[in-house]
Amino acid sequence: MFDRLNRTIDYLRVSITDRCNFRCTYCMPPEGVKQLHHRDILSYEELLRVIGVLSRHGIRKIRITGGEPLVRKGVAGFIKQIAAIPGITDLSLTTNGSLLAGMAGELKAAGLNRVNISLDTVDPGKFAAITGAAKLDATLKGIRAALAAGLTPLKLNVVLTEMFGETDLAYFIEQVYRYPIAVRFIEYMPIGNSRIGPGFSSDKVKEMINKAGGGCLEPVPGPPGNGPAKYFLLPKAQGTFGFITPISDHFCHACNRLRLTADGRFKPCLLGNAEIDIRNALRAGARDEDIAHLFFRAVSEKPDSHNLRRSAGRPEFRRKMSQIGG
Ligand code: SAM
Ligand code: SF4
Repeated sequence: MFDRLNRTIDYLRVSITDRCNFRCTYCMPPEGVKQLHHRDILSYEELLRVIGVLSRHGIRKIRITGGEPLVRKGVAGFIKQIAAIPGITDLSLTTNGSLLAGMAGELKAAGLNRVNISLDTVDPGKFAAITGAAKLDATLKGIRAALAAGLTPLKLNVVLTEMFGETDLAYFIEQVYRYPIAVRFIEYMPIGNSRIGPGFSSDKVKEMINKAGGGCLEPVPGPPGNGPAKYFLLPKAQGTFGFITPISDHFCHACNRLRLTADGRFKPCLLGNAEIDIRNALRAGARDEDIAHLFFRAVSEKPDSHNLRRSAGRPEFRRKMSQIGG
């Protein structure tokens, strides 16, 4: 499926819940956001129907997200059913990792290919300050369990906040030497009203790695993947470093994705307020071609570039990140 700018749209990010056991300061307000009522959240059957229809119109890659997707009951069974849909070639999940240790094997057996785990710092106090949860050990266990279960290639997502420091840098460099993982630094997007501000720029982190990493970062050769990260290698390291720069160097020209929120809205752009309601249609007896039509509409409404670039001031976002899934 191509959009009006000839971008291939083959990737759907599916938020299965707005609930989360963390309160990351850049993602939601400390009191949390008003939770959706159970009846307002798409059921697994409804989600499977949408994914099934979209798989016949070019969607190949599915990422499950939240809130925290592992807090929703029955997620492994849901993943098993997605994995059985013809045409879905890549099935992944983004998680804070805190519940993963007890579930990694089951998720792998269900057909999940890989996970991205969010980890911004390895300092327990800073971790708790960012996430509102004293769960660093659980997340670290989740990372080990994901590697042991073969939920690979494993990616660690690090949002660059002012909490990021030398100890974290040393930890991530060590991980990249020891394991074939990708550590991806993500520029902080000013969407919430975070008490913790943005940290170093991507360029500064590259400079720090060059200084502390035992060699200089080299761009990964070959064509770029179809994700937003730009990857770099350190000599002799097994893994890579990635940089995701939605603000300083946006990648909208190569955007390949659409989002589906837990309450059944297609979002053409993460950093835009446009939404196309699919829940009402599903519950009013939509035919497959009606679902496809709403998908085409959402694709046709994908903007050329995102709001943070176009508007002069700070735009108002109707949803917090936890209500979209990143
Ligand atoms: N709960 C899961 C997790 O934390 O991985 C999945 C949902 S979370 C919204 C998805 C990703 O968005 C995480 O990697 C998180 O760090 C990132 N994120 C949330 N708010 C952000 C912000 N303001 N700027 C940049 N990344 C953000
Ligand atoms: Fe929860 Fe993930 Fe948002 Fe943190 S980033 S509050 S873990 S949804």
